Amino acid sequence: MAGMCDTCHAGCCRGYNLLITAFDALRISRDLSLPVGEFSTLLSFSAEQSKRFENSFTPIKLSDLGCSEKRYFLALRRIESKQFPGTVKCYFLNEWLREHDAPNREGHSGKRVIGRCSIYGSRPMMCRTYPTSLHNETPLGFISTPRPIDLADKHAIYQLCPEKWTAEALSTDPTTVLHNLAVNRFEMDFYNRSISEFNKGGHKVAEFFPFMARLYENRFRTVPSLISTPPVAVEKTE
Ligand code: SF4
Ligand code: SF4
Repeated sequence: MAGMCDTCHAGCCRGYNLLITAFDALRISRDLSLPVGEFSTLLSFSAEQSKRFENSFTPIKLSDLGCSEKRYFLALRRIESKQFPGTVKCYFLNEWLREHDAPNREGHSGKRVIGRCSIYGSRPMMCRTYPTSLHNETPLGFISTPRPIDLADKHAIYQLCPEKWTAEALSTDPTTVLHNLAVNRFEMDFYNRSISEFNKGGHKVAEFFPFMARLYENRFRTVPSLISTPPVAVEKTE
């Protein structure tokens, strides 16, 4: 998105744990020739904690990561921000400081931090559709109000959009918005069915991407060396 995002520090690319599908991971890997294990992670939650994601994502069950009660979700890795040490950002977010007249909410007097996606053409479907959603019962799309990020009270860098989104502020053609939402819904359904198949087998984490690559092989010709490293498993407690 352009417009409001042009001058933004990209709070959305910092604070969210961005859950992705195998489609997103395999596409990024193919486009960048990057091993999937380098930029993806598995977040673990208890069965109780994972309920808040389960309307959208089927949890992954793994037989070898210790606790059989844990539920895992595929996500983009987050790494420490160079501009804001002690805070995190998406692995693919580029950031830099730009001279600016006024102090800003990140606390830089005379400078403004800018964030840009370094994989814009290959970014996950969730990033393409944000902050829009598809209505549950009709093919209509709408602009949703982004849920404040849990970390926003810890650091201003995690705050979201400076203004409320309007249809005019979205630079994207409305047809493209609906197209992305419909594709996202298809991919989510396909991925959730793929996870259900995976879960039946009592698989180990190292089998995750090879299993997914077989299910997506009509669309992605993957190189074995790019899918042999499993995502890093990260314990989540919040
Ligand atoms: S992939 Fe790009 S758009 Fe998506 S969270 Fe990361 S930096 Fe932001
Ligand atoms: S926080 Fe809002 S304005 Fe800033 S980059 Fe993300 S979507 Fe754009």
